[in-house]
Amino acid sequence: AKARESQIKKTKTVCIYCGVGCSFEIWTKGRKILKIEPKPESPANGILTCVKGKFGWDFVNSSERITKPLIREGDKFREASWDEAISYIAKRLKEIKERYGPDSIGFIASDKMSNEEAYLLQKLARAIIGTNNVDNSARYCQSPATVGLWRTVGIGADSGTIRDIENANLIVIVGHNTTESHPVIGSKVKRAKKINGSKIVVIDVRKHEIAEKADLFIKPKPGTDAAVLAGVAKYLIDQGWIDKEFIDKRVNGFEEFKESIKGFTLDYVEDITGVPRDQIIKLAEMIHNANSVAVLWGMGVTQHLGGADTSTIISDLLLITGNYGKPGSGAFPMRGHNNVQGVSDFGCLPNYLPGYQKLEDENVIAKFEEAWGVKLNRNPGLQIPQMIEGVLEGKIHALYIVGEDTVMVDCGTPLTRQALEKVDFLVVQDMFITETAKLADVILPAAASLEKDGTFVNTERRIQRFYKAMEPIGDSKPDWEIIQMVANALGANWSYNHPAEIMNEIAKLGPIFAGVNYSRLEGFNSLLWPVNEDGSDTPLLYTNAFATKDGKAILYPLSWKPPELKDEVHKVTVNTGRVLEHFHVGNMTRRVEGLRRKVPETFVEVSKELASKYSIKNGDLVLVKSKFGGEIKARAIVSDRVEGEEIFIPLYASDPSKGVNNLTGLVIDKASGTPGYKDTPVVIEKIEEG
Ligand code: SF4
Repeated sequence: AKARESQIKKTKTVCIYCGVGCSFEIWTKGRKILKIEPKPESPANGILTCVKGKFGWDFVNSSERITKPLIREGDKFREASWDEAISYIAKRLKEIKERYGPDSIGFIASDKMSNEEAYLLQKLARAIIGTNNVDNSARYCQSPATVGLWRTVGIGADSGTIRDIENANLIVIVGHNTTESHPVIGSKVKRAKKINGSKIVVIDVRKHEIAEKADLFIKPKPGTDAAVLAGVAKYLIDQGWIDKEFIDKRVNGFEEFKESIKGFTLDYVEDITGVPRDQIIKLAEMIHNANSVAVLWGMGVTQHLGGADTSTIISDLLLITGNYGKPGSGAFPMRGHNNVQGVSDFGCLPNYLPGYQKLEDENVIAKFEEAWGVKLNRNPGLQIPQMIEGVLEGKIHALYIVGEDTVMVDCGTPLTRQALEKVDFLVVQDMFITETAKLADVILPAAASLEKDGTFVNTERRIQRFYKAMEPIGDSKPDWEIIQMVANALGANWSYNHPAEIMNEIAKLGPIFAGVNYSRLEGFNSLLWPVNEDGSDTPLLYTNAFATKDGKAILYPLSWKPPELKDEVHKVTVNTGRVLEHFHVGNMTRRVEGLRRKVPETFVEVSKELASKYSIKNGDLVLVKSKFGGEIKARAIVSDRVEGEEIFIPLYASDPSKGVNNLTGLVIDKASGTPGYKDTPVVIEKIEEG
């Protein structure tokens, strides 16, 4: 037994699914994954994991992994050497840059890349190509939350830790299916109720599991959460149930804010949101009676056209009640992907250099120009939907996509597909031939997280180290090595031997990472940014000051309009989201046999009202047609989780023609650039008995 044990390798890793950032030891023998062992010292999860973290790793050994660079020849791909593929990419990118200029090239980062890889991708875009056209898939999800927090408190991230959520007196969850999207946080919320007596309020259009357990469940009409919260804020102000001392000392703009919500009377709110006034009053009372309030929110807020405004009013509500900077309180946008926070933090944003340093700040630019030895482009770059539009308008001629299945996850699959078919040159780095990779000119085989070293940032701003457990499959390579090869083929002289060296460079350039280095992140150690040079970190933000010029928070006036996309024909609204067993569209989980068997196919969850109106029963095949042109066919599940003229379709689909983004349209929240995925009006009809 001892001999067998000695062949087993135990490696500390971090989950590659959701933003909870569970860490554990993974036991391997060669490429074989034997087991996942969470440890009490795992900072975000302790001994907890969910089904994906525990069993969702077999994709690493999938026979569908790409093992060699592939170059398009007509309708097919042929295998190529790394030298040939990289030289070809460099040649084509140079030609396009010379012909159309650097801003004709765009870079899209996946939120599964490591921090070091995200940093290198934006460095390739900015320092080598000369464009700020670099963005990441946070644009599809959490950018509105970031905007709301930038407007009010200054830092676009969770203000405290998962421990603060557990310690909150009152946990308010808005538009977030905690149990299925962030399962370990879902368990901790339920434990907080059971053990600490925390109260739970859920505001959501769908009555999911955590809503069933809530002390108060509020179901507004789709897209009207902002009005509910404004009604609560007005009621709190009218009753004098606000923290006057906190506002006087630490907040600017109270009068303007108060003025902006004066129209949100109980009558108006009841009328526009469908939420009874008793519930508005009840929520206000619960906030008033709680010593500490934490608000969690997710895509049910952010994937609406008013996503940034709803995120703003959440933060405003916390400010007027003094719920920032003390344990058990604060704002918790639930970051979806394992590294959606980190990829933004480390610079894959069109208007910020790494560490949220503003592109328009000449001192910042000068610092990066000196460190990188180049002259930088000052023009703000394009966001992902603008890059897609840019291709269709003939302004973007090359796209370089790392680990992102843009066709499936961007809104409006048909239009995105059309753009990626049209673009002159498309490079995709990925583990699999995704729907996006199928359209590429060159596909570069990327290593999985278990095959490389690096760091991720979880939803709490916690930077965690993951270690290489096995060699990359076939000829695949870590994304950072691939990006370095491309940069050098384009004339750079980079010589990073290990991600630790990349992190050392970042620490010198980004003040919020000043004290970050690999020795401080050894094993299960972690750091929550901002990290000072001496290695002290910041679990709880805003204890003394907000991240604004004068240290005071800003109560940002609300400017909100009710959603207007429905019409006489398209009266039904589609809601989208995750299921527990699959991560998003399922590029990894669909390649894990056990998970695929549990939920093999997408479905349409239909409310009882709609089911009776259209005579739909469980298992019937339904056709869903969007106002934006697309359609999908899938089996129906009649459920009381949805109500009224509403249906739910998961993001997961085994077949691209059934992906819910065939229905969504290129309609964008102006403040954040995020598509209004959940503002999709459709018609539904039964086409076959189940
Ligand atoms: Fe933890 Fe999320 Fe991974 Fe589940 S999917 S193990 S909750 S990080």
